[in-house]
Amino acid sequence: MLISDNINREYGTDLDWKRTAVTNWSLTEHSLCDVCSARGVEEIRQALDVARARGLSIIAHGAGHSYTDAALNGGGLLIDLTTMRRILAWDPERGIMRVEPGVTVGEVARVALRDRWWLAVTPSTAVATVGGCVAMNVNGKNSWTHGSFGEHVLSLTVLLAGGQLLTVSPTQNSELFRAVVGSAGLLGFITSITLQLKRVPSDRVEVTVRPGRSLRELFQLFEDEQAADYLEAWVDGFAAGGQLGRGIVTASRYSQRVVATAAFPTFHLSERSMHSLTHWAGTLGRPFVEGGVRGANSVIYRGSRWPGRNRPRQISLMRSTYYAPALFTGYRALLPGGSETFQAFVPAAEAEALFAEILRRSQEHKYDPLWCIIKRHRRDPFLLGYQVDGFSLEVNYRLPVRVHGLRQLLRELMEQVIAAGGRFYLAKDALLTPVLYRRSVGEAAVAAFLDLKQRYDPERLLQSNLYRRVFQPSPQQPGEHDAKR
Ligand SMILES: Cc1cc2nc3c(=O)[nH]c(=O)nc-3n(C[C@H](O)[C@H](O)[C@H](O)COP(=O)(O)OP(=O)(O)OC[C@H]3O[C@@H](n4cnc5c(N)ncnc54)[C@H](O)[C@@H]3O)c2cc1C
Repeated sequence: MLISDNINREYGTDLDWKRTAVTNWSLTEHSLCDVCSARGVEEIRQALDVARARGLSIIAHGAGHSYTDAALNGGGLLIDLTTMRRILAWDPERGIMRVEPGVTVGEVARVALRDRWWLAVTPSTAVATVGGCVAMNVNGKNSWTHGSFGEHVLSLTVLLAGGQLLTVSPTQNSELFRAVVGSAGLLGFITSITLQLKRVPSDRVEVTVRPGRSLRELFQLFEDEQAADYLEAWVDGFAAGGQLGRGIVTASRYSQRVVATAAFPTFHLSERSMHSLTHWAGTLGRPFVEGGVRGANSVIYRGSRWPGRNRPRQISLMRSTYYAPALFTGYRALLPGGSETFQAFVPAAEAEALFAEILRRSQEHKYDPLWCIIKRHRRDPFLLGYQVDGFSLEVNYRLPVRVHGLRQLLRELMEQVIAAGGRFYLAKDALLTPVLYRRSVGEAAVAAFLDLKQRYDPERLLQSNLYRRVFQPSPQQPGEHDAKR
């Protein structure tokens, strides 16, 4: 929503500023920010000058696909980097691609797949930018074997708050590299990324779906399917009692069929018609969300048990990896009040018991878990790493449904997850406080991060709503400067 576009004179630059209410992906937070697009390093430097001169904070914005507050900066500046979207170099022999930060993972995939390369790790939204994926260190359906996005970055250029452009990599300025990956944009603007992609035998995968009658069976299926290239479980959040945690494990293996096409999934309907269809389906389904999802879950689960349903089928890698964009339209239409996401990363030994507890307590308190996903992970090597050797459960709840009570329950569950050695993902968390965050990733990691912030951004120009919620040191802490608005 555009509030005012009359601020260019006030800031006195060539940049085109707009005062706008920006919303996060989950529709839970709206922040009034001054937003401009940057087409290159010089324009980001100009924006930094505005921030410094005006005593404002500033943060990068990619596609805005973080669920919560990572890319919001209420009362401050937002720099949209989706306009920096050139592929700078592509070496199809070695699978090395250098891109500007606003290039989307879908674009990388499309170009690379023509030469039989693919992102080593990718989120399931094709729209996320590569800059955003580095900044949040995203995970994928193969994270137990391939780790996190940052583990496949060869180098980055980072524009620091002081205007200096630095190259960082696992061997050059490695301390900063280890901190920038997963830093939610708080140490600098990533202005280019060099990625090592992964060879794939074809543009197709062979997909097998296997139902599990309980959480225990789902974990057994994860064990049985370890040789798969990608694994993910969908959980029916409404199933209770002996069937608590029942669901379907989807295992995909690269097919050996030769590359035929690098196109996005094609539908019989045009993309526009798909959006209209999902919009109307979402709107019409709105009054019946809980009952509708409960019924649909039951149908999906029972369908997966039909004879022949478990035979492998071939689908395109694009389609098996990324949600169709039209689904986002339907989701928004269905849940216009937004959704609350709770994603817990839990060590393997504790996962089954804790996931059962999360589902059971949600059901007991009548907070219906609408959409639940389990993935497997391995620990990542970055300073603020959130992945552990174990599993994650993502649960999505409809809002606004007794929000206060829901968040109270989720905070209690957070305590249990942290006590078990678990962690939370800044791109999807809305509830961490400075105390809980320190307890989960460790006091030493947060202190080291804040030391680097003090070194590379002593004026604390780079801030976001997330920074103020999770990292803001107490007022007594040395080095703290005047709060930015
Ligand atoms: C439908 C859907 C599915 C998803 N699936 C997954 C998944 O499977 N796995 C997973 O890990 N995540 C997943 N996510 C989350 C998403 O991939 C991450 O939040 C990702 O960071 C979004 O990228 P973005 O370009 O939208 O970044 P934004 O949301 O715009 O920004 C995210 C953070 O990155 C910072 N940032 C952005 N660009 C730069 C830059 N150039 N320099 C410095 N900082 C920058 C921002 O300041 C902000 O802190 C999903 C999200 C959606 C909506």
